Amino acid sequence: MSVELLGYRINDFEFSEAVDNALKLAKENKVSQIVTINPEMFEAAEYDSEFSKIIDEAEMVVPDGIGVKIGLKLNGYDVERIPGVDLAKELLHGAADEKIPVAIIGAKEEIIIKAIENIKTELSNLNITYYHNGYFNDDNFIYEELKKSEARIILVAMGSPRQEKFIYNAKEVLPYGVMIGIGGSLDVWSGVVKRAPEIYQKLGMEWLYRTLSQPERIKRIFPAIPLFLLKVLKSKYFE
Ligand code: UDP
Repeated sequence: MSVELLGYRINDFEFSEAVDNALKLAKENKVSQIVTINPEMFEAAEYDSEFSKIIDEAEMVVPDGIGVKIGLKLNGYDVERIPGVDLAKELLHGAADEKIPVAIIGAKEEIIIKAIENIKTELSNLNITYYHNGYFNDDNFIYEELKKSEARIILVAMGSPRQEKFIYNAKEVLPYGVMIGIGGSLDVWSGVVKRAPEIYQKLGMEWLYRTLSQPERIKRIFPAIPLFLLKVLKSKYFE
């Protein structure tokens, strides 16, 4: 069911199992959080105990990127990579099929509007009961709106760890629903940011494509993977 990496529990689902499990959580009468973890998040959690606790307490933690997949491999685990953007898209398909109400929060106003327009073109019977851009200060207002929306799948695209913290606090307030942080997925769905060509995706090299096409990310992403892998090796051999 799960494996361990640098002290965190990670689910070792195949992609379709991850989708099924998330849809199951959506239908339960309790709230739950899915974290799609990457090397930058491990790094951030080291200096942010609140974030670390959030990852610990998440109902589902899946390896988002190639970095975490390699880290798991170094520890002897062969776990399928579950890109958050793909998991979220499959959840929307499931929601449309099973008539599960959905809420989407995050990104700039014009981006979320365009993303929803594109999603609705693909999934015309999807029931989006609430959406809001990701630039607000009053989280409680949004929680109340989410309650009213009766959404059972809530996608939050506000970047990490803001989105994970927003979701964690929502768990105190909402009666049910599965919530997942989806980072820059709305930018991709809006068509503003291009997804890496399939060859990059297949090779697990999306990070390289994104780094090359958004050079401002280089400082953030590039050192994260080797540093993370060094930590995994250190924990394996020296701790
Ligand atoms: N964002 C937001 N509210 C904020 C900060 C960021 O909604 O206060 C959005 C931003 O517009 C972008 C997404 O969060 O759509 C995060 O993008 P990024 O690529 O940085 O996330 P990552 O996938 O790297 O976590």
